[in-house]
Amino acid sequence: MNILDYLPTVPDFPKPGIMFKDISPLLADHRAFTYAIDQLYDLSNFYDFDYVLGIESRGFIFATALAQASKKGLVLARKPNKLPRKVYSESYGLEYGTDSLQIQQDILPNDSKVLLMDDVLATGGTLVAAANLVRKAGANVVGTLVLLEITELMGNNKLAKENIPLKSLIQI
Ligand code: AMP
Repeated sequence: MNILDYLPTVPDFPKPGIMFKDISPLLADHRAFTYAIDQLYDLSNFYDFDYVLGIESRGFIFATALAQASKKGLVLARKPNKLPRKVYSESYGLEYGTDSLQIQQDILPNDSKVLLMDDVLATGGTLVAAANLVRKAGANVVGTLVLLEITELMGNNKLAKENIPLKSLIQI
C-alpha cells in the first residue's frame, strides 16, 4: 500500500504558496489508516519512551493511536488558553504564520522519557517548540515521529541542531 495515495496535495491552502498535505482521505480509509499506524508503531520501537506527546490538532490523532498501541501515556501540547491549571508556553514560527503551544506544568514526571508526535514535519518550528516545553517541564525528549516529512523545508536540520532525533514514515 502506498500511503501517499491517501495524502493529496492541495495547492495554495491555507495561504498562497503552501502545498498542503491533506490527511483526511487517509483517516477516512480504515485499512490505510490502520496500515499507517502499524508502520508508525514499528518506527516508534526505535525509541525508549514513557509518554507520547501529541501536538494540536492533527498530531493528536496519530499520538492517540500510538499511545494506545504502545500502552503509553498521552500528553497534549495545545494551543493557548485550552488547558486548565498552570502551563508552560512556547511561541514558534510556522510555514504559514506564528503560533504558540502549551503543556500543563504538572503532567510530566521529572526525567520521564517523551516521544513527540505530529502529522507533518515542515520547517521543524512546531516540534522544536514542543521539545522546549518538555524540557521546561524537566522531562527528556527521546525523539520525534511524524507521518510525513517535507524534506525541502529542512525541518530535520533544525531538529538535529537541537539534538532531537527524527523518524518519519514518508519523505517527500
Ligand atoms: P513546521 O513547524 O513548519 O514543521 O510545521 C508543522 C506543522 O504545521 C504541523 O503541525 C503540520 O500539521 C502543519 N503543516 C505545515 N506545513 C504543512 C503542509 N504543507 N501540509 C500539511 N500540514 C502542514
